[in-house]
Formats: sequence, structure tokens, C-alpha cells
Amino acid sequence: MHEARLYQKLEENTVRCSLCAHRCTIREGKQGVCGVRINRGGTLYAATFGKVIAEAVDPIEKKPLNHFLPGTLSYSLGTIGCNFHCEHCQNWHISQQTLEMQSLRDLSPEQGVEQALASGSASIAWTYNEPTIWHEYPLAMGTLARKKNLGTVYVTNGYITEDGLRELASMLTAFRVDIKSFSDTFYRKVCGGRLQPVLDATALAK
Ligand code: SF4
Repeated sequence: MHEARLYQKLEENTVRCSLCAHRCTIREGKQGVCGVRINRGGTLYAATFGKVIAEAVDPIEKKPLNHFLPGTLSYSLGTIGCNFHCEHCQNWHISQQTLEMQSLRDLSPEQGVEQALASGSASIAWTYNEPTIWHEYPLAMGTLARKKNLGTVYVTNGYITEDGLRELASMLTAFRVDIKSFSDTFYRKVCGGRLQPVLDATALAK
């Protein structure tokens, strides 16, 4: 498995992840709220690196982006897991899936860029589930994609820390945030998160 970025080692093989605003403290053998970042022996691993469950070539307007590479196609891919648990999620069958699921397929960052170019797409979009929790993988693929002049798109809930977002800045060209409500109560009750970190990340991305 691929070692995660953005975490801190604590005492007794416990770690603290600082990728998203949950900032999970994770004991050995356990995983974060997202279900895909796992502590093994005091090292945090990104268990879904290079593991894809859904891919498609979509119009960029489906992301939906209206003023970014209009009229082009976007090679879109996602995996399992999410740092939210929204009661109304339309992709719940992948976002709330567990790592035991058998139908994930391997796709390296290099292969992803090749697929995007072969499909005639002008960009790569990480979508369908929350890309934040996949961090190391889109970061690697997006860095390669920019060298090939492909655009790079996050379709995200915006629940990422400043450290996480700043790491993406070198490669990300579009950050499309769902602001699901302006009520913190809604975020807490329906999504399992908080409003303010979403607003902070959105402002920082801008
Ligand atoms: S990405 Fe977020 S939910 Fe997942 S382990 Fe890190 S802090 Fe927790």
C-alpha cells in the first residue's frame, strides 16, 4: 500500500491525519472516518491509491463547469469512500462502500493520463466519490497530466485542510465545490461534517 501524506506520528503507534477537516486520530489497525486511510504499525496508508471503481468520458458541463474548457470532454474517475456520510448522497453505493469490495481495478497515474489522452479529453476529473480522500493519487496523476497540457478538475465537498489544498495548487486547474447548505446544523446532521471548513477551503481555492 501507498504511504499517506499529511499525517503526524503520535505515541503508541497512533497517528493523526491532517488531510481533511476531520483531522482523525487513528489507532493502530484502525481507519479514519473516510474508511480508506489506514494505520498499520504506526504508518498511515492511502489504501485506495491506484484503485478505481468508476470511469467515464463526460462532457465538462456534467461536472458541472460552464466556463472551464467549454464544449470539451473530461476523463472522469472515482473510487470508494467519503469523508461525509450525506443522507441524500446519489452515489452512496460507492461513497459508502468498504475496502472489502472486490471490484476495484488497478490504474496507475501514468495509465490514467494515457487513457485521458486516448479518449480525446481536454481534462481529467476526479469525481463520483470525494477526491480529497484519494489525495496522493490525483496529485500524482494531475502532475503528469499538466505536463501533457490536460486540465485537472476536483469535484469536491471542499472539506479539505489548508495543507491539503496547498499541495494540490501546483497541479489543480479547477476546484468545483458543493456548498450543500449555509447551515452548520445541516452539515452536522445530514452530512457528518461542519460548514466553516468548507467555506474556508472555498475561499482559499478562489
Ligand atoms: S482524510 Fe479526513 S476522514 Fe480520512 S483519515 Fe484523514 S482526516 Fe480522517
